Amino acid sequence: MCGIVGYIGKQDATQLMVNALRRLEYRGYDSAGVASIHADSLKVHKRAGKVADLEKLLRKNPGKGSIGIGHTRWATHGNPNDLNAHPHTDNSGEIALVHNGIIENYQSLRKKLLEEGYVLHSETDTEVLTVFIRSIYDKINDLAEAVRLALAEAQGAFGIAVISTLEPDKIIAARRGSPLLVGIGDSEYIVASDATAIIQHTRQVLYLNDNEMAIVTSEGYVAKTIDNEAIDSKIHNLEFDLERIERGGFDHFMLKEIYEQPSTFRDAFRGRLLPQDGQARLGGLIPVVEKLRRAPRIILAACGTSWHAALVGEYMIEMLARVPVEVEFASEFRYRNPVLNKEDVVFAISQSGETADTLAAVREAKLKGATVLGIVNVVGSSIARETEAGVFIHAGPEIGVASTKAFTSQIGVLALIALFLGRMQHLSQRDGVAIAMALKQIPEQIQYILDRSEAIKTIAHKFKDARNFMYLGRSFNFPVALEGALKLKEISYIHAEGYQAAEMKHGPLALIDEHMPVVFIATQDEIYDKVISNIEVVRARNGSVIAIANEGDSRIAELAEHVIYIPNTIPMLTPILTALPLQLLAYYIALERGCDVDMPRNLAKSVTVE
Ligand code: GLU
Repeated sequence: MCGIVGYIGKQDATQLMVNALRRLEYRGYDSAGVASIHADSLKVHKRAGKVADLEKLLRKNPGKGSIGIGHTRWATHGNPNDLNAHPHTDNSGEIALVHNGIIENYQSLRKKLLEEGYVLHSETDTEVLTVFIRSIYDKINDLAEAVRLALAEAQGAFGIAVISTLEPDKIIAARRGSPLLVGIGDSEYIVASDATAIIQHTRQVLYLNDNEMAIVTSEGYVAKTIDNEAIDSKIHNLEFDLERIERGGFDHFMLKEIYEQPSTFRDAFRGRLLPQDGQARLGGLIPVVEKLRRAPRIILAACGTSWHAALVGEYMIEMLARVPVEVEFASEFRYRNPVLNKEDVVFAISQSGETADTLAAVREAKLKGATVLGIVNVVGSSIARETEAGVFIHAGPEIGVASTKAFTSQIGVLALIALFLGRMQHLSQRDGVAIAMALKQIPEQIQYILDRSEAIKTIAHKFKDARNFMYLGRSFNFPVALEGALKLKEISYIHAEGYQAAEMKHGPLALIDEHMPVVFIATQDEIYDKVISNIEVVRARNGSVIAIANEGDSRIAELAEHVIYIPNTIPMLTPILTALPLQLLAYYIALERGCDVDMPRNLAKSVTVE
């Protein structure tokens, strides 16, 4: 959450930073701001609202200079207003700072600073840190050292960038818990919270690890730990294209990403599926193959949409590999002192690879001696770097705040892992071949659903004013019911519940009346008849039924008001196909209601705070 950028070089820093902030805006859009230094003076432009609002401000009063820092905020402390917007400055307006994260001991630091006579104007933890740095600088006259000493005392999470007229030729960047990287150009450097802000300028990057800082000048940089130890910094090469982070003719990133799914799914499988052998080849797991073979238990730790993918993974891995699987909310796992044995294998699942709770779960599991692996989209992200091994989902940058393509690719990769583990244990080659063949067909089947999205638009129009929605599914599609409800909540602000269809009679059935649309995932598998009975129960209470069913299912049309058909596949892969209509339904309903699909209220991408 929150986007940070910093620039030092020869270009106009403000213009470059505003362009970068536009790319980073999916990480936070409560306010935006920039600070730059020109002719020994520091100028700050910031305001509540989106980057477009900041641009209006800059049109009237442009920023100058070729060094600066910028920010898009996802507020944690204090309302999203002009005053709380970043960059924050010290009392004399000589030091400016942008921050992603939460300084947990800001109250005690604040008290101390007020006692010392410093003044604080905003409600943010960030301003406290800025003034705290100044208070140290006043004693030692060394900016980088003042930042370092302040951070050594700061508790919580941060990614920060600092500039100052006191030492006008440098940006100081540091992180603990929140991502930060330094793009290395030709006599220019860009500090950013993710690579989308850098790729236009350079592919060479230095990833900062936790408790590391970089002092960047136009001549080069020095990286070290916050404990003042030298580090061996390695330069990485970014490997995605600019066009992958642009909207490419679609109205929204979310829609673009929904439509990318045939190809992202193919990318998740490229070189990894051996259909003739009924086998998956996962190079990333080779170093830990023996540990996987012997694992008495597998734990999948994740948050949000990734947690829903993990639930599907649980069903698939238990079915194919016959290993007990537990799915954990990473946010619970980290705090409840989980029972972990050294032979257990933990997979941490996160699109961004930066999710704060999931990263903390990784560290907790490592501490307890378990083997910790990652299922991550962003190469070079913290979880990718901190896990022993893992599998990238290769979905390309996901900018839409509501996750879509990452979800289906996560399920795809979990299916590959289930196949990989299954073939090492009990799964026959014949059964493996059947699964591999079914997987191969998925991209075309996704395309088939996307080509028929008109019918979903009609349903969206009809139900756009509903105040509540219920999503019901069973077995492999129970997690998809949860995910369908989450998508609707996230972008249309309609209250929606996802439930296990059979559990409904234990309570939620009381909610059903003629005003309640109920989305049933009723694919043809061994519990199809049970789901049909669940539909009858809802109909008997006048609920409007929208069913997701298999092509050729003639029975369902008599029961449901609307049916969205998906192609036939094996039951364990149906979640990939049933998720598609639910993503589109949420998208079109949000559109009908005039919601800002790519920037939903109160949310932001990549949840880097606890
Ligand atoms: N805690 C800071 C604030 O509320 C930073 C939030 C962010 O990560 O955008 O301003």
